[in-house]
Amino acid sequence: MMNANLPHTYLQPILEAELESVVGPDGFRSVDADCLCYSVDYYWVPRVWFDRDMPMPKPQWVVMPRTAQQVADVLRIANRYKLPVVPWGGGSGSQGGALPVQGGIVLDMKRMNSIVHFDEKSLTVTAQTGIIQQDLETWLQQRDCSMMHFAASIRSATLGGFLAHRGTGVLSTRYGKIEDMVLSLEVVLPTGEIIRTAPVPRHAAGPDLTQLFVGSEGTLGVITEATMKIHPQPEARHFRAYLFDNLSIGLEAGRRLMVDRLYPSTIRLYDAIETQKVVKRVLGLDVDGAYMVVGYEGHQVPVEFALKRTHEIFTELGAQDLGEEPGWHWWEHQLDFYYPPHTLDLPEAFGTMDTVATYDKIEGVYLAMKEAVEAISPDIIFMAHFSHWYEWGCMMYDRFVIKEPPEDAAEAVRLYNRVWHIGIEAALKAGGMINEHHGIGLKLAPFMEKQYGPAFKVLLELKKALDPNGIMNPGKLGFPFTTRPF
Ligand SMILES: Cc1cc2nc3c(=O)[nH]c(=O)nc-3n(C[C@H](O)[C@H](O)[C@H](O)COP(=O)(O)OP(=O)(O)OC[C@H]3O[C@@H](n4cnc5c(N)ncnc54)[C@H](O)[C@@H]3O)c2cc1C
Repeated sequence: MMNANLPHTYLQPILEAELESVVGPDGFRSVDADCLCYSVDYYWVPRVWFDRDMPMPKPQWVVMPRTAQQVADVLRIANRYKLPVVPWGGGSGSQGGALPVQGGIVLDMKRMNSIVHFDEKSLTVTAQTGIIQQDLETWLQQRDCSMMHFAASIRSATLGGFLAHRGTGVLSTRYGKIEDMVLSLEVVLPTGEIIRTAPVPRHAAGPDLTQLFVGSEGTLGVITEATMKIHPQPEARHFRAYLFDNLSIGLEAGRRLMVDRLYPSTIRLYDAIETQKVVKRVLGLDVDGAYMVVGYEGHQVPVEFALKRTHEIFTELGAQDLGEEPGWHWWEHQLDFYYPPHTLDLPEAFGTMDTVATYDKIEGVYLAMKEAVEAISPDIIFMAHFSHWYEWGCMMYDRFVIKEPPEDAAEAVRLYNRVWHIGIEAALKAGGMINEHHGIGLKLAPFMEKQYGPAFKVLLELKKALDPNGIMNPGKLGFPFTTRPF
């Protein structure tokens, strides 16, 4: 490590003065209590650790930049001292992606929250990436537009966090995930250069640099500004609910809508357990089978056609039509599933594995994971809904819940990690891909090499080339821990 010969008592005040001079005293924190706020994200392990008064991995410094130039200056300093730098958006990630596991600097992006440009003609918006997604959405809705990115964490996650984790919202089946919405990026490279990816998203000028940074989880640079596609508000929006005898028929029904190219805005299919336990608790609907909500939006005429065609397909498959009311009820209460009193919380142990597969494999992935996870202990429940659909396959939001995990934190974490390993091994073996929209972070890092095989070398080489000192978010995305804490 550089400067290793100098005693830290001399180095620390010099470094702190350097960081403070970049962002000003109001943008710099080094007090323990402030730093502790950055030791827990939405990953279950730090939450239980914190709950049981265990020592937490804290950053030594929190730096809150306002401009890309300030980010660049901080990264140059971090390179000189070889210090870890971890970008932090809303801290709502579930994979431990923003945890400063090796200490160092947390770069809290939330003061970079300006809307930079609104192009009404091309329907694009450019914003700094520390903006909370709900604030951006509200601003757009005041102008009769929308980004149509309605993630359940819209009120707490940042635009940059969604880009870094490849996030998705409930209307993704029509409008795409965040990677389909992004047009170009401003990125500060780990070595401090500020770059812009292509000014327009479609071109034949080589590989797509924008997409290189989407999903990079703060390991290849800091995304400081993004130009995003936006939409006018639709003329018509419809939701309708159906009930299928079982999950298998429900999956076939969803597949038919997608391969028929009917372009639903949403298809949300719950397995029998979620239908009985979760849908009943949150929406008050007491039905048995596989519950599905389908939505369409756009111009009235094509929407009406799609609803009619959906009804024909579903009737052929023996579905029970529950009508519009429960569909709208779901839309209006979609956030309730993820917040108190309905959300899963300590002392329960729970995790969302979030798997994606092609239609020929998705049901097999579900069955394999369920069998493997529930075989670990009779106290473990595995359940899923299927919520992001493509022309070729769909995403499974599969969750496990351990009602009464061991009281001892280390024991509980051991069991928790075992469930993850067994579930993921089963998913990979059955042809699934981990992960669809929560990212990799710390939690899934050990599986990256296994999942990619020799192709992982490409990512490793990119990381080495862009971040020669390995300062950016070490240990995440399966990249090595190359820095040491100061
Ligand atoms: C109740 C709840 C509901 C959720 N629902 C959804 C959902 O519907 N859809 C969904 O996709 N996710 C959901 N999530 C997960 C979470 O909100 C997403 O993963 C989101 O992308 C995280 O954004 P954040 O700003 O909180 O990022 P953080 O958790 O702060 O960081 C996540 C990762 O992004 C990196 N990062 C953050 N900002 C930048 C930047 N500017 N440049 C480079 N790297 C950066 C961090 O280093 C870290 O690796 C939910 C979470 C909760 C708690």
